[in-house]
Amino acid sequence: MTPVVTLLSRAGVNSFYFISRIVKGHGMTLKTGREYQQSIEQLALEAHVMGRTETHLADHGLVQPSRAAVAVTYDGAHAKDAATRALFRVHSPLCKEEVNRFTHLHRSTDDLVKKVTMQRYCGHTTGCCFQRCVGMDAANAVYSTTFDCDAATGTDYHARFNAYWTMIQKDDLVVDGAMTDPKGDRGKRPRDQKDPDLFLRVVDRKPEGVVVCGAKLHQTGMLNAHEVLVMPTMGMREGEADWAICFAVPTNTPGIRYIYGRQTSDTRKLETPSLDMGNPRYGGQEVMTVFDHVFVPHERIFLNGELPYSGRLVERFAAYHRQSYGGCKVGVGDVLIGATALIACMNGVAQASHIKDKLVEMIHLNETLFACGIACSAMGHATAAGNFEIDMLLANVCKLNVTRFPYELARLATDIAGGLLGTMPSAHDLEDPVTGPYIKKYLAAAEGADPVDRIKVLRLIENLVAGSGAVAYLIESMHGAGPPMAQRIMIGRQGRLEEKMAHVRTLLKIP
Ligand code: SF4
Repeated sequence: MTPVVTLLSRAGVNSFYFISRIVKGHGMTLKTGREYQQSIEQLALEAHVMGRTETHLADHGLVQPSRAAVAVTYDGAHAKDAATRALFRVHSPLCKEEVNRFTHLHRSTDDLVKKVTMQRYCGHTTGCCFQRCVGMDAANAVYSTTFDCDAATGTDYHARFNAYWTMIQKDDLVVDGAMTDPKGDRGKRPRDQKDPDLFLRVVDRKPEGVVVCGAKLHQTGMLNAHEVLVMPTMGMREGEADWAICFAVPTNTPGIRYIYGRQTSDTRKLETPSLDMGNPRYGGQEVMTVFDHVFVPHERIFLNGELPYSGRLVERFAAYHRQSYGGCKVGVGDVLIGATALIACMNGVAQASHIKDKLVEMIHLNETLFACGIACSAMGHATAAGNFEIDMLLANVCKLNVTRFPYELARLATDIAGGLLGTMPSAHDLEDPVTGPYIKKYLAAAEGADPVDRIKVLRLIENLVAGSGAVAYLIESMHGAGPPMAQRIMIGRQGRLEEKMAHVRTLLKIP
């Protein structure tokens, strides 16, 4: 009997899927982007895209740009310059090998700073969401929370998670972190919803594991991930043990369905010529993910009814992802600022003092976000489990600024770009022998600026402020990792008002 078969017979039939998936694995740390693309194709994921069941996602015009964006997170580890490679490569004490930082459990504040710097690099390389940070943030939160839960309650989740994450690091996989439940009536708890599946929950308990039902919304990287790490959407209370579940399964697990989410102007990605796409190489996407009686074996469960740890997990994951925005959105901001400066040159207004001042304002806002991302990283601390956590107050300040500043950057870019941003003829008319020459003649601007290059830059700005790129740059900046009110609540809790009042009492000698 081969070791695999022995393992199967011990684990039982229900575990077959998971074991075969792990044994197949990919066995390769530090994959290239191309190797990643091949590995994700092997999963043969199927999605419902605009009324059709699509099975060849790698070739699908809507999916391909977002896979290309994820591939950048792999290619960074093989960059020509040593400084970039050093940003993406890190030694992991867990698997005892050099791994891609997107799978790393942070071991120092330097790791946290490098994480944000790497995300800025990916943001300015792709100009969009590159999706892979959610799994990294979820892993760091699950790692410390399972440690705390085991220490307090005697569970063995931490060892299970370590075994799981060692496999992720060794195979260099993409993990989608899934937190957001549909939530139904926002005024009601999970147990009081008319349909209890509106919060993902355990519907059946078997000797080998559990069966779950529910859905996760806004899953940007799901169709490009090998694995999904599911977390509760909020702190659960007495009577809500079935909703306090954290687990991981391969993305091609039976029972999971993917329903593609629309983005503004997304069908431009299907057009040829590609000029009107704005970002011709990369893009994001959204997916509604349904779990319809999905089986999860015990070894893949990392929280199962331990109520106090559901809230702790949510808080930690959210804080890590709020830090992440101080890197990724800044990188996309770099692209928007660069495009705006370029269009100012092409329009012949680069020397106007008010244009220079607006560009300075854009840089100031963008670097303020980066400063927040770096600050919450530099002020981080070790958890009881040994990985490093950001300063939560500063991470929440970072994200609250992210809910505002990209909108102001977009407003300034729109101001500088001019009204043509919303009125340009299509790429088809540019190619038309009758209309093309008129377009080139009347869209000429500063001497030396090619009208077609001018259109390219304007389309990129349009993509980021009003097109499909605005989903990641603006709507996601508002709601990703929680809406502004979530950060205000955390800032209120962690702002140490008592301490500040005490300082004033001491200063004024007030008892
Ligand atoms: Fe990463 Fe930013 Fe996308 Fe989140 S929104 S997955 S931090 S690129």
